[in-house]
Amino acid sequence: MTWLKLLQNIIHYSNHLLVPGLLAWLFFPKDWKKAWVVMILSMAVDLDHLLASPIFDPNRCGIGFHPLHTPYAMVVYVVMLWAKKAEIRMLAVGLLFHMITDTIDCLFMFAQCDGCYAKSALKSWLWIFH
Ligand SMILES: [Zn+2]
Repeated sequence: MTWLKLLQNIIHYSNHLLVPGLLAWLFFPKDWKKAWVVMILSMAVDLDHLLASPIFDPNRCGIGFHPLHTPYAMVVYVVMLWAKKAEIRMLAVGLLFHMITDTIDCLFMFAQCDGCYAKSALKSWLWIFH
């Protein structure tokens, strides 16, 4: 394993498990334990990978590719931040942070894989900013 891959794994798992705890404590100080659990459960958003074939591809960036990882879905997550129910807001923070985590993962992958960015769904979405 290269040091870059190792760093990628450390960041990935901290982002999925530890950082949500920090976010829970920051955004939901009175209810941080529940918020942490909801945010970890928000990882279930990766079930949309089951619709893809192959289900797992280390050289595919999921952002913009899987249905619950598209900008359309992200708009819904942003709207959910204003929900009345705290649980929905907790879920929204978890989901949006999940998208950031996956994007960081994509950047690591692009750095280690020639041509992966060029064929990624992320690149095709970024035309919006050009
Ligand atoms: Zn994901």
